[in-house]
Amino acid sequence: IQISNHMPTKELQALDAAHHMHPFTAGNELAEKGVRVITRANGVTLTDSEGNEILDAMAGLWCVNIGYGREELAEVAARQMRELPYYNTFFQTTHVPAIALANRLAELAPGDLNHVFFAGSGSEANDTNMRMVRTYWAQKGKPEKQIIISRKNAYHGSTMGGASLGGMTPMHAQGGLPIPGIHHIDQPNWWAEGGDMSPEEFGLARARALEEAILELGEDKVAAFIAEPVQGAGGVIVPPETYWPEIQRICDKYEILLIADEVICGFGRTGQWFGSQTMGIRPHIMTIAKGLSSGYAPIGGSIVCDEVAEVIGACEFNHGYTYSGHPVAAAVALENLRILDEEKIVETCGAETAPYLKQKWEALADHPLVGEARIVGMMGSIALTPDKASRARFASDPGTIGLICRERCFANNLVMRHVGDRMIISPPLVISKSEIDALIERASRALDECL
Ligand code: PLP
Repeated sequence: IQISNHMPTKELQALDAAHHMHPFTAGNELAEKGVRVITRANGVTLTDSEGNEILDAMAGLWCVNIGYGREELAEVAARQMRELPYYNTFFQTTHVPAIALANRLAELAPGDLNHVFFAGSGSEANDTNMRMVRTYWAQKGKPEKQIIISRKNAYHGSTMGGASLGGMTPMHAQGGLPIPGIHHIDQPNWWAEGGDMSPEEFGLARARALEEAILELGEDKVAAFIAEPVQGAGGVIVPPETYWPEIQRICDKYEILLIADEVICGFGRTGQWFGSQTMGIRPHIMTIAKGLSSGYAPIGGSIVCDEVAEVIGACEFNHGYTYSGHPVAAAVALENLRILDEEKIVETCGAETAPYLKQKWEALADHPLVGEARIVGMMGSIALTPDKASRARFASDPGTIGLICRERCFANNLVMRHVGDRMIISPPLVISKSEIDALIERASRALDECL
């Protein structure tokens, strides 16, 4: 049989359930409810197999920064496939798309982050980072500096390395994670864990958990600290303002490499090119993926500072992926960066779109079900609560209210994701003001329907 968009939804659902295993989805749940089949997309709007037009307030998985349907990327991909569909970057070879993309990223990245190691995804890039920071210290004559400190409720990917770096307990519970040499400290989630402290006090306390861990593990044993400038998949946890300056001070003091996982925050998501700029930090390595190609092609990488790149370059780093710097993905990413830059998408977003969204989003805190409403640039979250004053959590499975709310959003033609009892958004950066109005109106309606 020829499987196509023209088939009835029920048939596509049955074929999907028969042979397709989905990430982060219970199979029997799919067989029961049927999967939603997305057939087309343009701008910020998805079309499903039933003809519904759905506002995608998640930009896919936080990645379609320039919006759907940009022909230029399709053309660049086709041209590159005809010219050089594949060649590797191993063993002293290279090609123009990889050269051009690495050079462009070195221009865009702050400070002396001037060197790029390519991967196929964010998870792979974080695996690269783990091996790179450990190799760096070994090359520097400190092979015992191996431990990487990360945070509970962080997300750094799904590979053995990435998921171990991450702090998601349901992931650790499957497959023997975390692998050794990783230590998790508490996250700066004031709403859920701040108790009686002010956000500022709490931010400092949670940053100092890093110092305590370093002292406990031994300064001479810790290689690096990894964190997302703003935790994304953990529920868009915006840290208190005191948090990052203190983390930077601690990393400097104890000579700990700082890895900023910019997989979500990079390429305009926080209102500037990189979340590190928004949070005022100076990482040694940035993990990138997602917005790098706006999701049009799978590509990720690590942008590495001069010092680390020089030390790594002095040995043969026995690491790489068949698709490191894949020419088609690199060409697509380069075109995506051209569009972000030439159409001033990041600037417009930072100066106009994000402030407009912020004002509307924060007003959701007036809804009886909403505790805090937080937003940085174009990533926002609301915490659902039965009692704002005491910052109470819903008593049953904290995912339940979120699931209900997500279903109500779908019913109102809006894709919003839930993480436990938080609802989150991360729309394409090109969303218009009237589309923001529609997003807020549909979200409000969905919240009303949860009362
Ligand atoms: N790091 C962060 C912060 C992420 O949000 C993600 C994915 O959501 C990853 C890493 C993993 O990226 P990928 O899914 O491309 O492997």
